[in-house]
Amino acid sequence: MNEMTRVGSDQNYSEEARKALSREPRLFIGGEWVESTHGATLPVIDPSTGREVGRFVDASDADVDRAVAAARQAFDDGRWTDLPPIVRERMIHKLADLIERHADEFAELEAIDNGKPKSIAAKADIPAAIGMLRYMAGWTTKLGGETMAPMSAPNGAFHAYVRREPAGVAAQIVPWNFPLLMAVLKISPALAAGCTLVLKPAEQTSVTALRLADLINEAGFPAGVVNIITGNGHTAGDRLVRHPDVDKVAFTGSTEIGKLINKNATDSLKRVTLELGGKSPVVVLPDVDVAATAGGAAGAIFFNAGQVCVAGSRIYAHRDIFDKLIEGVAEAAKGWTVGPSLSPESRMGPLVSDEQHRRVLDYIDQGKQAGASIVTGGDVPFDQGYYVNPTIMVDVKPDMSVVREEIFGPVVVAQRFDDLDEVAREANDTCYGLAASVWTRDISAMHRLCAKLKAGTVWGNCHMMIDPALPFGGFKQSGLGREQARQGVEAYTELKSVIIAL
Ligand code: ADP
Repeated sequence: MNEMTRVGSDQNYSEEARKALSREPRLFIGGEWVESTHGATLPVIDPSTGREVGRFVDASDADVDRAVAAARQAFDDGRWTDLPPIVRERMIHKLADLIERHADEFAELEAIDNGKPKSIAAKADIPAAIGMLRYMAGWTTKLGGETMAPMSAPNGAFHAYVRREPAGVAAQIVPWNFPLLMAVLKISPALAAGCTLVLKPAEQTSVTALRLADLINEAGFPAGVVNIITGNGHTAGDRLVRHPDVDKVAFTGSTEIGKLINKNATDSLKRVTLELGGKSPVVVLPDVDVAATAGGAAGAIFFNAGQVCVAGSRIYAHRDIFDKLIEGVAEAAKGWTVGPSLSPESRMGPLVSDEQHRRVLDYIDQGKQAGASIVTGGDVPFDQGYYVNPTIMVDVKPDMSVVREEIFGPVVVAQRFDDLDEVAREANDTCYGLAASVWTRDISAMHRLCAKLKAGTVWGNCHMMIDPALPFGGFKQSGLGREQARQGVEAYTELKSVIIAL
């Protein structure tokens, strides 16, 4: 194999991508590209090579304040909220059209910045972002309140109704695993509800959010409705979360930072929604088609190199099929070809960063030291870039860190079970509750387990089927509130009861 040389060399970027990467570090505030007050910048690193390929602004406190002021003004003067809903709906669709037009460029930039294979970004991330915008665009013209009769007054004595109004200025902070999709998942319900916003992408992956800002201007959004600032979480992100002019905070990221953000947003009682970590179980009953299920279980953990909040990172397989299933997952793992993000053969790219690479390798070490056995993987394929081979661990115990903690890498732990009550108990033995999947043809076992599993989403005979029309969020420490669906857009609104004596 010649991977060592292939991976060591630079990736071949298109002209468009080079242009996007070489843009001057600027922030998108009030519809304009503005310089930072302090000139600090951060690097764009291509995780396939570990090389710096661009720079962007690390926003100062004054930059954050300026972005919030732009969003505040744009909200307060009604330049967005007061437009006819159909005009706002069309503009959101226009943004979706523009992303569609630049889909190939977005897929390439996502691959360069995050490390995911371009082919996967083109099939998954970019269409999902477009779909989210189109779904939420529709809510713009459908949101409304209701009329109610006060229970204690005679009919006709009062006119009472409930108005649904936009919550105000939203601060939106997103992670690095699906950079454009996460950004769009945040901005689309806020825009549909009539809010204005400041979005901060993750410091590891800010390229596509900045490119999105170009399209926001092209789509014709009024200045200040969408502001996009880049920078570190503990500085720019923190300032944004605590800012007194922000009404609502929406965050996707780790449980640790989510808890911190929840605390910091409390001073002024901001509305908060959190999408946090997970350690999602994949429960396999003995009646399944083992080969097909093994492929599904492999996809549940190896897609996006396991850097997915709903990754199926704990397999629970019935004792009768455990060995065959794990053999099948190991076989399927071979199909998750590891390689650079722009290579057409790659199905799994590097992890996003050096830090994440070390973290995942450290977890694998901890597992080995605690007595776990590696069925496949556990090592790195290349001497450059942040790659980890698809890894399956068995002989694990419920108290090991690899079983309890979110690894956020291509590492799955597998355990045996004998009956449904036992597996429900073990699957629920976690502080997380984001997702789970159940694999069986036994319809009554399926429904019994779906009811017992404590998770915001439970899949049957599939994993990671996420759709804008269904609410998404976590039980327990996996989050607060729901995104997507009606509930996702309503999270950007306030209710006002109006009671008029006639
Ligand atoms: P991960 O562990 O997946 O890297 P984090 O939860 O650390 O994710 O980060 C997700 C997002 O939260 C990023 O945009 C990051 O900049 C931001 N962030 C990190 N720390 C803070 C903080 N203290 N306040 C606000 N945002 C933060």
